[in-house]
Amino acid sequence: MPEGPEVRRMAHRLARVLVDQRLGELDLPHPALRPHEHRLSRHRITAVETRGKAFLIRFGKKGTIYVHLQLYGRWKIHRVSTEPRSNRTLRAAFVTETHQALLYSATDLEVLSDAGIENHRFLSRLGPDLFDPNLTDESLAERLTGPTFGRRQLAGLLLDQGFMGGIGNYLRAEMLYVAGVAPHRKGSSLHIDEALALANAIRTIGQRAYDQKGYTTDDELLAVAKRRQWSKRRVRHYVFEREGQACFACGTGIQRADIGGRRMFWCASCQT
Ligand SMILES: [Zn+2]
Repeated sequence: MPEGPEVRRMAHRLARVLVDQRLGELDLPHPALRPHEHRLSRHRITAVETRGKAFLIRFGKKGTIYVHLQLYGRWKIHRVSTEPRSNRTLRAAFVTETHQALLYSATDLEVLSDAGIENHRFLSRLGPDLFDPNLTDESLAERLTGPTFGRRQLAGLLLDQGFMGGIGNYLRAEMLYVAGVAPHRKGSSLHIDEALALANAIRTIGQRAYDQKGYTTDDELLAVAKRRQWSKRRVRHYVFEREGQACFACGTGIQRADIGGRRMFWCASCQT
């Protein structure tokens, strides 16, 4: 499933081709969207926003199309002259004079009013967004250690979209590694320095994954890889999907275990 950074990057690409453009064609074959097709087709898209892993395609005051890709949903953007080829089921097509944005296979789709967004079953429960510019290390450290979330095991907590919107499986493993915190720990057990380090890692790794198209490692490691002529892919992550391989910092073999039904990776020597 795409995580916050991937969703946000896709939303920016969608915004670039759709916002303020006249829609020559709006095709909404999914039953949840179909009744709104004719009405929305007369209006322009004013913004494409994200909330955690969800997309909001806004038609000003006229309504908002909510899209959650879940596991199978995919967006494709083509020039209008390209004949799209896909075996997937088309759910929505937004066609401007120059581009077409096509949504395939997603099933979690709705048209919402502004009030509907505020009361939405998923959106209303979302924690602060990974890319919220008002988020600080201090406020996030408090959230990690405080009474609401502090008793939860960190590995599970970081995936809870009510704690924070946008973190998924690869991000949680990389965030905990960069902070040097073991995944089995609870927020309430963190020393203030550890909580601040994890808060900082959450924000830094989220932004880095966005900037570097899913790469969570830093420039220094990327430079080492280049000097040693390693494939770039080999240093995509510090621990995620590196089970049994040597930790880049200490050489210890990376551990893997299923925690809460999801794959978790960590270095038992760097993360305590
Ligand atoms: Zn290590």
